[in-house]
Amino acid sequence: MLCSACSARRDWLLINRGRHVWIVCRCGHQWLEPEIRRADFDALVGAPDWTHHDSVQEGLVALGFDGAFAGLYLG
Ligand SMILES: [Zn+2]
Repeated sequence: MLCSACSARRDWLLINRGRHVWIVCRCGHQWLEPEIRRADFDALVGAPDWTHHDSVQEGLVALGFDGAFAGLYLG
């Protein structure tokens, strides 16, 4: 996996919505990642390089992804 906009391979925010996992890159690009299943998501957020947040908004703010994309994940 890598960001199609800036080619970053990490430092993403992963957002689990139901059965789907969205990735938000620090460059602002976001995409649905169908290859990540829930089990993979759990493994990723449990890895040392990833931080788990209890809510999407909390994660967005904490990681500096505040504001611009938050509305996409409501509801
Ligand atoms: Zn990017």
